[in-house]
Amino acid sequence: MSRPLTCATTTCLGPSLTDAALRLGAGSPVTPGDLVGTPTCYLQARHRGPHYGLALDLEAEDGSAVWAVWLHGGGPHLIVIPACPGRSDTGMDVCTEPDGHVGGHTWQVRDPLLDVARAQLARMSLPGS
Ligand SMILES: [Zn+2]
Ligand SMILES: [Zn+2]
Repeated sequence: MSRPLTCATTTCLGPSLTDAALRLGAGSPVTPGDLVGTPTCYLQARHRGPHYGLALDLEAEDGSAVWAVWLHGGGPHLIVIPACPGRSDTGMDVCTEPDGHVGGHTWQVRDPLLDVARAQLARMSLPGS
């Protein structure tokens, strides 16, 4: 259980960037409901450089997605980036972070929000509680 946590810093797109993200997604099979209004940074905690949060998965073959990119304390801007081509040694795990990301791949880091969800599930399945 020594995998480092993800950064998990969030930003807010606001109306104009929401529109811009959907324009970038025009021509792909996405709907406004697929948009993440408050993207969460996927990178390993205490990474260098800007934060990267998924705004809109374009469901493209190369895994391209609209990413919100922001500096600490600054507002986000949008970039379309293909998915990281990384695969784990077993080939079972794909990386859902943007190509060229810093820090560990998806299977090497731990999302603190997923930890919370797993802990809640574990509590619900305890007998007699
Ligand atoms: Zn970050
Ligand atoms: Zn990766």
